[in-house]
Formats: sequence, C-alpha cells, structure tokens
Amino acid sequence: MIYLDNNATTKVLPEVRDEMIKYLTENYGNPSSKYYKLASDSKNAVEYAREKVSELFGCDTDEVIFTSGASESNNFIIKGIADIQEKNKRHIITSKIEHASVLETMKYLEKKGFHVTYLDVTKDGTIDLKQLTDAITQETFLVSVMWVNNELGSINDIKSIADICRKKNLFLHVDATQAVGKIDVTMPNGVSFLSMSAHKIYGPKGVGVAIVKKDQFGLPNRITPLIHGGEQENNYRAGTQCVHNIVGLGKACEIVLRDFEKNQEILKNHEKFLVGILNRKLKDNIVYNSPCQDLKVPGVINFQIKGVKNVIFLKKISSQIAASSGSACSITHPSYTLKAIGLSDEEIAQSIRFSLSPYEDIKELEEIL
Ligand SMILES: *Cc1c(COP(=O)(O)O)cnc(C)c1O
Repeated sequence: MIYLDNNATTKVLPEVRDEMIKYLTENYGNPSSKYYKLASDSKNAVEYAREKVSELFGCDTDEVIFTSGASESNNFIIKGIADIQEKNKRHIITSKIEHASVLETMKYLEKKGFHVTYLDVTKDGTIDLKQLTDAITQETFLVSVMWVNNELGSINDIKSIADICRKKNLFLHVDATQAVGKIDVTMPNGVSFLSMSAHKIYGPKGVGVAIVKKDQFGLPNRITPLIHGGEQENNYRAGTQCVHNIVGLGKACEIVLRDFEKNQEILKNHEKFLVGILNRKLKDNIVYNSPCQDLKVPGVINFQIKGVKNVIFLKKISSQIAASSGSACSITHPSYTLKAIGLSDEEIAQSIRFSLSPYEDIKELEEIL
C-alpha cells in the first residue's frame, strides 16, 4: 500500500514515537506539580518542546501555546481576538479557501454581529494583494489567511500580506498547518498569530500550537482563552498538558528543522517522478489544478483525469494507493476550494489529490498507475 494522502494526516515517525513512549510509561508526572523529580521531568520535557517550536517559527517560547490541534488553535485565536475588540471594530477579512475550522468560526462570528469578507482567490489558489488592500475598512481588525492551501499546495505571499497588515495596524492570523516542513516558516514581522498541527508533520494526532505574539502595535496582546481554568499555557489554555503529545510535537518540529533541505530534495524528486508517470500514462487526459512549481509547495499535486469520476478511480486503486479527492473535512460537499479557483462541478468530480511524503517509497507507482 502506497500512502499518498499526507495532507490529510501523516504517520508518526519512529523517532517521535520512541520519545513519546517515555511519557506514557515511567515519566507520568504532572508538569504543573511541584517538589519532586517526576513532575519536573515532565515540565522540562514540555518546555524543551516549546523551545523547538519557537526555533521553528522564530518566536519567543512564551508565545507558544499548546492546544489540541490546528482546529482548536484557529477557533481560539479568531474568537479570542474578536472578543477583545471595541464596538466599532466589527470587520474581519479571510479567504474563500480557508480550512473548515476557520470558515465555520467566521460563520459563528457573523451570527454574533461581525462582518466577514471572504476574498476570492486567483486561479493559482492565492490571495490577490490588491483585493486584500481594497477590502480593508475603518472597522477591520483582523485578517486570517492560510500560508499553504491543503488541497492545492498553493502558497500565499505571507510576507507581503504581513506588510499590508502592519501598515494598517491590523492583526494577522496565519494558518501554517500545511506550510511546516515544506517551506521556511519563520514568522514575518507583522504576523500576530499562527496555527499549526503535529499530525500533518509526522507527529501525533490531537496536539497543535497557537502562537500569540506579545506586544503587537505596542499594545499588550491579551486575547480571551477558549478553555478557562488552571494557569497552564501562560493562562491561555487550561487543563493538564498532554505531555506525551507535546513531546511528540516537539520532536516532529526538531526533525523538520534538522532534515529540511534533505526532505525538500526528496519531495521534489518524488513529485517529478510521479508527474512523469502521470504524463506518460494519461497523456492528453490529465489537467493539473495545482499551480506551477514556484507557486506551490513540493509534493502536493491536484489534477483531473478527463472523463473519469474521481470516486471511481480512487476506489479502483484503493487496494494499492491511499489518496483522496481533496479535503478530508468536507467529504460530503464538492470542494469549495476547487470551485473558488474556477472549476466546474464536472471538473471537480474528476479531481484527485496526491500528497507525498519524503518517508514513503513510491517506486512501485510505475506499475500500479
Ligand atoms: C489539517 C488542517 C487543519 C486542522 O488540523 P487538526 O489538527 O486536524 O485540527 C487546519 N488547517 C489546515 C490548513 C489543515 O490542513
């Protein structure tokens, strides 16, 4: 079985698992407890993971908040910022191709009286900077956009978006879940909040990060927590920390930093190999939905096979290849992302996403496809 659905989730690397197991067995102390070594060992492990996250994103350790995943981070950040706004700041800007955990949070806020602008995207699946600038009003307080799109692999120009937001004194939240391990994710000046998830980068499910930058625009940046209670996570996220998961996330981030160049090379080579096979076997019947090389991350290919329903194709190959038609979160609806880049319902029904891994051997695809 060849797994080509790495944008849905990834396997846990053995190195990550080995690190985690210690905290599921002998090292079971509560990191918030005091006086004895079992507790301080857990606390040290959590703080070590926090350092690795801060190294990866180029932020301070006290700006790193551990959560249950990117969905929680997106909810916490967007609702948390909305909650501290003055009465005259009611407008948020996002895009039509954000993850469900952003779009549904926006819908919730609309019911609460906020106005949301959903920006169109270009056929490349990226935000148009002029459209963004034009959408900003006196009422705008937040821009929330993804760094890399989960279905297309398209990359938003976060540095330029951050420049625009900084000049207008707007908070910028970036969902970086699909960017980690694929591009440099050092936070550009002007990014105030960031979300990510461990299970998309060969770490465990159920753990992620929300980065909350201190002192944006010279103001203390104290947003409202989603989970109230104990003082864990800088008073932002109550509850006993999930030590083994946090340790796994930290290890996964450490590996992203350590193996970045090597994995980039492998991903690029894998993609070239796969595209070669597809072009040879499908000839004129293949159409690529993903943008060209430099506008997308390596290893994500979204394409159509003309005249073939994706469901039929995916079921046919399913005993040998695990792949999907797009987002795992919206399986019951045609992809809103592909609609937003201008595809018809018929074209969407022919679309398939292959998302590769540097840790998966794909040589046998030559025979399978
Ligand atoms: C997977 C994903 C999420 C959700 O992450 P979870 O940890 O599963 O909640 C959010 N945003 C993007 C872009 C994703 O790909």
